[in-house]
Amino acid sequence: MSVLPSTHVLPSPAVPAAPSATPCGGSPAPAVRTRVLHAVPTVEALPTVVGAGLRVPTLHGDTAYANLDHAASTPALETVKAAVDRALETYSSVHRGAGFASRLTSAWYEQARAEVATFVGARPDDTVLFTRTTTDSWALLSKALPSRTTVFVFGSEHHSTLLPWGRSRTVRLPVPQTLDDAYALLEEALVDHASRHRLVVVTAASNVTGEVWPVARFAHLAHAHGARIAVDAAQLSAHRRIDLAAWDADYVAFSGHKTYAPYGAGVLAGRSDWLDAGTPYLLGGGATRSVTEDGTAWATGAARHEGGSPNVIGAIALAAACATLRRHARAIEQHESRLLARLRDGLDGVPGVEVLSIFGNDSDRVGVVAFTVEGWDSALVSQVLSVEHGIGVRDGKFCAHLLVDELLEDPWGEGPATAVRASIGLGSTLEGVERLITAVAGLVEHGPAATWTRTSAGWVVEGPDPRDVEVERPW
Ligand code: PMP
Repeated sequence: MSVLPSTHVLPSPAVPAAPSATPCGGSPAPAVRTRVLHAVPTVEALPTVVGAGLRVPTLHGDTAYANLDHAASTPALETVKAAVDRALETYSSVHRGAGFASRLTSAWYEQARAEVATFVGARPDDTVLFTRTTTDSWALLSKALPSRTTVFVFGSEHHSTLLPWGRSRTVRLPVPQTLDDAYALLEEALVDHASRHRLVVVTAASNVTGEVWPVARFAHLAHAHGARIAVDAAQLSAHRRIDLAAWDADYVAFSGHKTYAPYGAGVLAGRSDWLDAGTPYLLGGGATRSVTEDGTAWATGAARHEGGSPNVIGAIALAAACATLRRHARAIEQHESRLLARLRDGLDGVPGVEVLSIFGNDSDRVGVVAFTVEGWDSALVSQVLSVEHGIGVRDGKFCAHLLVDELLEDPWGEGPATAVRASIGLGSTLEGVERLITAVAGLVEHGPAATWTRTSAGWVVEGPDPRDVEVERPW
């Protein structure tokens, strides 16, 4: 029986073999805290996603799925699936076994960490942690903050970035009207709230408007006042470069499921000192250096916060996605800016459509566009797009209630309470964008094709819902 796939290559010597911990008294864990710079050749073609040919049922028969919902979760990349399939052939424990498969799996886990370190532009002494999601990363950081840290966060943040710090130590800043307003609000708050440890938390790209926040400028401002800065890159990671070092930011978090690697891994990367001194996130095997009747000595580095057997498949998936995104960065940016320009232009031409924005029409954006359609409930719009046109979008307040409430504020109280969000990625096509524009224009002009009723469970189409087809379970 052949144990290894024929294409097997031994772990690259780029992974340092120096042991940093022996989890559960087992084999040494290779330490990777160092940024490994891989020069990757640029590939001009777009990488493909799994399920690119998906067809979905609509009222008018099957049609190609128009995936305009990447801001919620991205599909998997083909390269990610291939890496996972390959890693599964020798799947074994991480840092807990002496067998060859365990050794190989452990090495790949640490190589995945090095790949992610490069992807986020980590400095040599940064710690790169695998978590579950951005939400999980912030929960971890929140627990590791020095006591009495004051956290500064804008009301425009996603709830996962707004809430984990605890109300009593959070200084919540209003949703800014302009970027200058944002700097002024932050500066004033930093001046007003002196404390030994302070952390500013900002998003790199809004999950509602797609607007890109100039994090390097916020980092500069935070540091000028002796504060640290943590950047929410959940909406940036699939679209643009994350660069901790160039931004001079202290921490960054992002999620695999929004970065074409939906295998349950996320990332927190940044300064080691608070992480090494902070409460270990998951108490248990792997996070300890020694356990005696007299007490427990906790590990430092990644091991400290990665108690339990790690999600190595998720880490490998994420590393594969990072490598692919770096390789294809230019082609991805061209594809997305073309689709985004058409989407915005097309929506601009539909009467009654209002695109949401914090900083104004000309602000820099990734491919996320939230909009309202005058006279039409956003929940109905998204159902019509799905059932009548085979388009996937999201509606609601996108876990950013304060921001959406602010942007939809209507002095007469009659404005729409929620919005529709179309978000672009590698699973989106120009045809899908055109279909969305035509569908919204058609809705405004003629109303929906079907008859719709509002019920306590939401909007329901008259007659059988075409999506209620019987599909075999995947297991
Ligand atoms: N921040 C932003 C900007 C997001 O868009 C999201 C997810 N919508 C999160 C944080 C939370 O990410 P996750 O659900 O992966 O924890």
